[in-house]
Amino acid sequence: MAKIRMTTPLVEMDGDEMTRIIWKMIKDELIEPYVDLKTEYYDLGLKERERTGDQVTIDSAEATKRLGVAVKCATITPNAARVEEYNLSQMWKSPNGTIRAILDGTVFRAPIVVKGIEPYVRTWTKPITIARHAYGDVYKNTELRIPGAGKVELVYTPADGGDEVRSTVHEYAGAGIAQGIHNLDDSIASFARASFNFALDTHQDLWFATKDTISKTYDHRFKDIFAEIFAAEYKERFDEAGIEYFYTLIDDAVARVIRSEGGFIWACKNYDGDVMSDMVSTAFGSLAMMTSVLVSPKGYYEYEAAHGTVQRHYYKHLAGEETSTNSVATIFAWTGALAKRGELDELPELVDFAHRLEQATINTIESGIMTGDLAAITSLKNPTRVNTHEFIRAVAERM
Ligand code: NAP
Ligand code: MG
Repeated sequence: MAKIRMTTPLVEMDGDEMTRIIWKMIKDELIEPYVDLKTEYYDLGLKERERTGDQVTIDSAEATKRLGVAVKCATITPNAARVEEYNLSQMWKSPNGTIRAILDGTVFRAPIVVKGIEPYVRTWTKPITIARHAYGDVYKNTELRIPGAGKVELVYTPADGGDEVRSTVHEYAGAGIAQGIHNLDDSIASFARASFNFALDTHQDLWFATKDTISKTYDHRFKDIFAEIFAAEYKERFDEAGIEYFYTLIDDAVARVIRSEGGFIWACKNYDGDVMSDMVSTAFGSLAMMTSVLVSPKGYYEYEAAHGTVQRHYYKHLAGEETSTNSVATIFAWTGALAKRGELDELPELVDFAHRLEQATINTIESGIMTGDLAAITSLKNPTRVNTHEFIRAVAERM
């Protein structure tokens, strides 16, 4: 059988620990037997980040700007314990944070829905994708503890020497707290465009919600920017695609999400996205079944699993013990990237291959063969619990 051809390489970002082990198995056993795989390889494993002074992370993000599509393995974000474990010269920043800052993207997280792993919400038959605005608000705040009576004000000093603007936050009679937050029109506009583009890409409705009735300037600005960009740039394309943009209040959105059947993208302000993505992913059953894609407003894509490097399993693996680590989200990171590459390069065979690999993965689980994390929660009777490698081999057999 002739291998499926690729024209443009994918940016391949290798990573750490258990996911690095899975990464190689997926390439060797699920992709390379069928695809004449072309990648530009960047090793984002912690050792190489240390060796290059983290330049490799920056290079991989720049390569993504050049080639358009990347697939990333989970990576360690160093903390004090990792500095010691890897003898690091410094506590390198999160690679995801570095890449996101360079690509200026929005992260979309979507669950992989399979029969036998039932969401806690009975009506959810289709995935709910959360888009989180990853800039500003409470994550870039300034806070004060107010020790006693006094006044807190917001003050804007124009850079061009114009008149100062002041507004009283509160006249304190006693001790309390205060917080200043901000956002930027440009960042909100990028978030809106990434969300509208992803809705078109995946052919799903887009929901967005804020608390604009209470926050008549701040949240209202989000609502207005989304509405203006939608009307000017997306309305016609949404009509043609038969999809909708739907705006409502955040509390109404939460209630509707629970009653819905899923199958849409939910764009969330930063804090809402932080909180709701954990709720939605837990309600869908397993973090190991959650995919993640960073979409930049310029149309660059970086696919990954939402989970980390599964450190605990890796130490078992190093000790020679058997592991049963779920590779599904990492497989779907590869299929997401291959399908996008195929779509951009007009290679229908590559797109088709990606969908077949996804289907083979889903069919394997639905036939009862699954890793321990899923075997523990499945509604299927008598599942076969397999180890890390056996699961990938079972998918390969179906391929
Ligand atoms: P984690 O790797 O997501 O794992 C946490 C726990 O969740 C695991 O111990 C395991 O539970 C379960 N789990 C996660 N993924 C699984 C899978 N594929 N199959 C089976 N079980 C799975 O989070 P962590 O242990 O907090 O973080 C480990 C490292 O990952 C850290 O260094 C962190 O910086 C990094 N991290 C990277 C990314 C990224 O690159 N995007 C994201 C998050 C974390 P049991 O142990 O109970 O089996
Ligand atoms: Mg969170």
